Amino acid sequence: MRLSELATKTQKQTSDSDVSRNAQFLTRAGYVGRLMAGVYSFLPLGMRVLNNIENIIREEMNSIGGQEILMPALQPKDIWEKTGRWDKVDILFKLKGAGDRDLALGPTHEEVVTPLMAGFIQSYRDLPKAVYQIQTKFRNEARAKSGLLRGREFRMKDLYSFHASQGDLDAFYEQATAAYHRIFKRCGLGGITLLTYASGGIFSRYSHEFQTVTPYGEDVIYRVPGTEIAINKEIIDDQDVLKELIPGYKPGDEKNLEEVKAIEVGNIFKLGTRFAESFSAGFTAADGTQRFPVMGCYGIGPSRVMGTIAECLSDEDGLVWPEQVAPYHIHLVSLVNEAADIEKCEKIYKQLCAEGVSVLYDDRDARAGEKLADADLIGLPHRVILGKKTLATGSFEWKKRIETESNILPLEKLQEIVSAHESMTFPF
Ligand code: ATP
Ligand code: MG
Repeated sequence: MRLSELATKTQKQTSDSDVSRNAQFLTRAGYVGRLMAGVYSFLPLGMRVLNNIENIIREEMNSIGGQEILMPALQPKDIWEKTGRWDKVDILFKLKGAGDRDLALGPTHEEVVTPLMAGFIQSYRDLPKAVYQIQTKFRNEARAKSGLLRGREFRMKDLYSFHASQGDLDAFYEQATAAYHRIFKRCGLGGITLLTYASGGIFSRYSHEFQTVTPYGEDVIYRVPGTEIAINKEIIDDQDVLKELIPGYKPGDEKNLEEVKAIEVGNIFKLGTRFAESFSAGFTAADGTQRFPVMGCYGIGPSRVMGTIAECLSDEDGLVWPEQVAPYHIHLVSLVNEAADIEKCEKIYKQLCAEGVSVLYDDRDARAGEKLADADLIGLPHRVILGKKTLATGSFEWKKRIETESNILPLEKLQEIVSAHESMTFPF
């Protein structure tokens, strides 16, 4: 892609009244555009990042046997009344359809998926089943002021699993936990994303959140020293929880827990039979009795993950994308004016494209300072600079976004760098 042809431009300042770091950088760099608080358009660069994140999630959900579906965002009132949630869920967007019909915009999909899958689950032989979607959700959030972190319209992957027994759910839940760890690692958030024990429901003692540690987070969690496990503040006063989660716990040990702020990027939950019961969705067990399937739900917000990466991994100059989510891998900057040099740059760009490398080529007629500042702001993992002097000696300047030192290398090396980074060639 040529920057001269990209549909967007960078901006020095944004008119976005949202001062959060992710909103500022993502709008200034042209990844997203704000329509109103908590409601954003995804622009070409942002769309590529979102697609990369969603594809990572898709691969990992497929790897544990999840099957992709797409459910409607527009939902009738009666399914929400069946579960008693029409009046209980305070963030539910309600609207009137033709004929004064009461409708809702889906904030989550238990009410849709349970009766939908019940149609295919008659016997224990039909279980287990796991379906998921990656879709736009709507929540009437009161505090939509953190860019992509808290949207009123946002992206969610929600997987729902159905099992014949609690034991089968427990085993799948473990697999899902492992898949979530892989997702956050691939998104560059491994190590700083902690498996966090949070309050459960009637059917399970805990739910599990994936919390990315950052001073910009809204949630408060307590990290168990030497582990990648944490306890959400909401259950920290429960002595039984502490006894269970802190090895060799003695009263007072909770003072050793490290209190940190974090962003909830994922949440998995054992639902039990509550939704199946609401819809009278039973199945015939192996012993011939009627039972309800035991369900689990597994949520993750791709748009919030994108905002979290922008929030946590950026520096004062701009965004820093990890390899697997970056919109392009190489930012190719030409700093030459003469026709013969421009021709050389064009040739290098075309050659990289022909090899399937994903390149953003700054071919604009702009000052060097502006081009380099934009490269930092946009935040691609690798920057390749072609200047008059380097080109004359058959070399180029290469720098990683996260490093301060650059290297001058002969042009033949460009090929080597590219092939050393398999992920630079765009698979999609
Ligand atoms: P929170 O406590 O932050 O409001 P939640 O616990 O209500 O979130 P879930 O219902 O568990 O969220 O949703 C699953 C995932 O969807 C969350 O872990 C998060 O990644 C994402 N998500 C939830 N609400 C939002 C939102 N308003 N904007 C963006 N992503 C969201
Ligand atoms: Mg949650």
